[in-house]
Amino acid sequence: MKVVKTIAEVREQVRQWRAEGLTVGFVPTMGYLHEGHASLIDASCRDNDRTVVSDFVNPMQFSPNEDLESYPRDLERDSALAEAHGCDMIFNPEPEEMYHENFSSFVDMTVLTEELCGLSRPIHFRGVCTVVSKLFNIVKPDRAYFGKKDAQQLAVIRHMVDDLNMDIEIIGCPIIRESDGLAKSSRNTYLNDEERKAALVLSQAVEIGKSAVKNGITDCAEILSEMKVKIESEPLARIDYVKIVDAETIQQIEKIDRPALCAMAVYIGKTRLIDNFFTEDI
Ligand code: AMP
Repeated sequence: MKVVKTIAEVREQVRQWRAEGLTVGFVPTMGYLHEGHASLIDASCRDNDRTVVSDFVNPMQFSPNEDLESYPRDLERDSALAEAHGCDMIFNPEPEEMYHENFSSFVDMTVLTEELCGLSRPIHFRGVCTVVSKLFNIVKPDRAYFGKKDAQQLAVIRHMVDDLNMDIEIIGCPIIRESDGLAKSSRNTYLNDEERKAALVLSQAVEIGKSAVKNGITDCAEILSEMKVKIESEPLARIDYVKIVDAETIQQIEKIDRPALCAMAVYIGKTRLIDNFFTEDI
């Protein structure tokens, strides 16, 4: 497996693979890889001849008050995990390689980014859309793999690819969880023992929401109130949002009468965690 730092090296390698008639799958990440990322690499290796993983903490998607500086990084560990799962090349650029001094073009999106995480992180999706567009232009994959863990991001990327006619198939992959239910996340490393226990309210609330839907409750306010009672029972938890939206448009709905996404962001101490379920997956 190759670890490369420059755009030119990625292009050269992908050009060679293309000349050999090979297909290319792509897994964009911010590194500090765990089994969630590994599941995307596995899916890509199943579907494609070659798999590229990007390992880049993208400064553009962090607000000044967020955790850009403290975000965990460990390229050596990431390389071992990615290689063990069949990755052929890791792209680990420095920020200057991605954003030169005169960088001034952005990919922005309206509507889908105005709800959920877009409300509490106003510049986030502009950063995500811009970096993913750039990475797509660099890697030129046949398919790209995203986790349902970041459900709004998945919807935004699908929409961007459609709007901008990018010739890339977007594959959404299931949320991988710890054995007690907590969704795997690089940010889980911020939690101390007490917070780690408290963080279980997210997946527990997800289960409560799923059961309510399974039991035929269609009134979103009723489902959400059951979930909120659970989260609010945990003193270390502070809700950023818990909402039900149309899975495609990411606009709030009152009744589950179409494919819906129930998503939450909850602070456990200072750490902001997300979790969700799609009604279609129940
Ligand atoms: P990140 O490194 O957090 O930006 O995530 C990179 C990709 O991995 C995104 O598409 C995430 O949705 C996905 N991902 C992160 N955590 C998980 C998880 N627990 N299960 C499945 N996919 C995940």
